[in-house]
Amino acid sequence: MDLTVSPIEPAVVRALLGTDDAGHAPRFSVDHDGGSPLRCCLTLARPGERVALVGYAPVRRWAADPGPYDELGPVFVHAEPCAGPDGDGWPEAHRGVARVLRAYDGRGHIVGGRMVPAEGDPERVAGELLAEDGVVVVHVRAVVFGCFQFSVR
Ligand SMILES: [Zn+2]
Repeated sequence: MDLTVSPIEPAVVRALLGTDDAGHAPRFSVDHDGGSPLRCCLTLARPGERVALVGYAPVRRWAADPGPYDELGPVFVHAEPCAGPDGDGWPEAHRGVARVLRAYDGRGHIVGGRMVPAEGDPERVAGELLAEDGVVVVHVRAVVFGCFQFSVR
C-alpha cells in the first residue's frame, strides 16, 4: 500500500502562528537542547532553533461530523514558516520510536488503533489499519503524552 504522510498544512501552520485552535497566542521559545518534534516539517528541532507551542485541533478541518472527537492538543511548529517535510514518506525522525496509531473514519470518529513498539514496523501497521473498512486516515501519536505527530492516508 502506498502511504502518504502529511504534516500540518502550511496554511494552517501560518494561521496557528497567529492564533492557535484554542484561541490563544503561540508560546514562542528557543529549543536550547533541540529535539522538539516539529509538525510543520516532521523533523526534530536543532539545538537553538526557535519554536512555537500551539494548540492544534487535528480532526476538525477534514472530518464530516467529529462531534466529541474534535479534540485539541499541544504541538510544536517552527516559529517561522518552514519549507515543510522532505517528501511524503515516513519521516526519518519518527523511526525507531514507539507510537500509537489511531484510525479515524470519515466522520472523524476513532474506529481503531494499535500500539507500535520502537522496534516495530509502523508503516505496515498503518497500512493494515487503512485497509480496514471505513478507515480514511491514521494519526500517529506520541505514546506517553498522546500528542498528534502527523497523519497518514
Ligand atoms: Zn518546520
